[in-house]
Amino acid sequence: MNERDSETLAGFMEELGFTYEEDKLEAQVVVLNTCSVRENADQHFFGVLGQLKHSHEENPGKFVAVCGCMMQQQHIIDAVKKKYPWVNLVFGTHNIQEFPKLFKNAVEEHKRIVDVWEGSDTIAEGLPAKRLYNFKAYVSIMQGCNNFCSYCIVPYTRGRERSRKPEEIIKEITCLAKNGCKEVMLLGQNVNSYNGGISFAQLLREVDKIEGIERIRFMSSHPKDLSDELIDCFKDCKHLCHCFHLPVQSGSNAVLEKMNRRYTREKYFERVEALKAVCPDIAITTDIIVGFPGETEEDFEDTLDLVRRVRYDSAFTFIYSIRKGTPAAEWDNQVPEEVKHERFNRLIDVIHDIQEEQMKEYQDKVLPVLIEGTSKTNANMLTGRTETLKTVDLPGDISLVGKIVPVKIVKAQTFSLYGEIVDA
Ligand code: SAH
Ligand code: SF4
Repeated sequence: MNERDSETLAGFMEELGFTYEEDKLEAQVVVLNTCSVRENADQHFFGVLGQLKHSHEENPGKFVAVCGCMMQQQHIIDAVKKKYPWVNLVFGTHNIQEFPKLFKNAVEEHKRIVDVWEGSDTIAEGLPAKRLYNFKAYVSIMQGCNNFCSYCIVPYTRGRERSRKPEEIIKEITCLAKNGCKEVMLLGQNVNSYNGGISFAQLLREVDKIEGIERIRFMSSHPKDLSDELIDCFKDCKHLCHCFHLPVQSGSNAVLEKMNRRYTREKYFERVEALKAVCPDIAITTDIIVGFPGETEEDFEDTLDLVRRVRYDSAFTFIYSIRKGTPAAEWDNQVPEEVKHERFNRLIDVIHDIQEEQMKEYQDKVLPVLIEGTSKTNANMLTGRTETLKTVDLPGDISLVGKIVPVKIVKAQTFSLYGEIVDA
């Protein structure tokens, strides 16, 4: 979501006549779009500000703007004002559309502007975007979250759920497709509670009809809102990728309840089985938090058991991080750091073992791969993605970038796949 917002900010800068500079120490204008979902994101932001301090002193004409989720929290705004008084502009997630105006005012009036809105009922439409690729794009379909999981800062930084109108979404994707886009990732904190007058499943069916779009992805989905109607889309929608990101967070019913997730592990299994029944080759991925307040060894073992049963294709694993302002931050049954780390390492081992076995299954398969560019590890190779988001390196001509080609997997390793293009 933040990356998508950064594309909008870059689009504004381009409209204002600026060109992109990779090195933040060299750039004349720096816009830091922040994430606040875990404490290390916050720390990273303050670290970057520390680095910028020196280049700001050397070049007082340098302009630094800070925005995003961190700025929606008063204690962060106070810290920025006090410790980094040279920051020129502070704004939040709800007034990103105001950026050009705020930027001009701060430059022309030579003064620091702090303008953060508490919330908003609407989503601004028609904003520019400087997208990284033309063959794949993020499309935000909704903003905010109403779920208030007890560990999570997002409902406080992104506000309540607002869905974009389906016609605006379709217009944006049709326009992307005309410009060569083949893959869209529909984004929302909770995409399957989308309600823009039609349901998320209905929206998927509309997107599936757009000419030129060959791959549709979406994230994130909440297990409690995974309807049969959405599962049925995997029967009929030709362009829906056979993968599903379904964050479980914990395998223990006691922990799920304290997290306010509003489903049980049994309900979660039932939904996974329903998905697999309709789409047997579906790759299921997840998010897991370890060390949530009060998590016992038995609770954690329930998580390991769930992971072994679902056999995730991959999983994002997080150590619970105290977020000021959320209910769980106040609880006094926090799990000691060393216990959190020990559990985290055990979880990763289990996930890796499963992943190793899953990856072996790719050996000798022929799969469609969207070629994205040159390989990070070998500039003479191309790199692309399978429908299940696995990276494949392969020999081939650079002119294939942006095309979907059939690839035979010749070497499947735990974290990487190597392939060769075959005739269609
Ligand atoms: N709306 C999405 C995800 C939002 S945040 C969803 O509910 O699936 C992405 C992930 O960050 C979450 O799924 C969760 O696993 C993790 N996360 C959120 N708050 C966290 C915290 N306080 N500590 C550790 N991980 C957290
Ligand atoms: Fe956070 Fe829960 Fe909302 Fe996801 S569903 S953004 S974890 S509050």
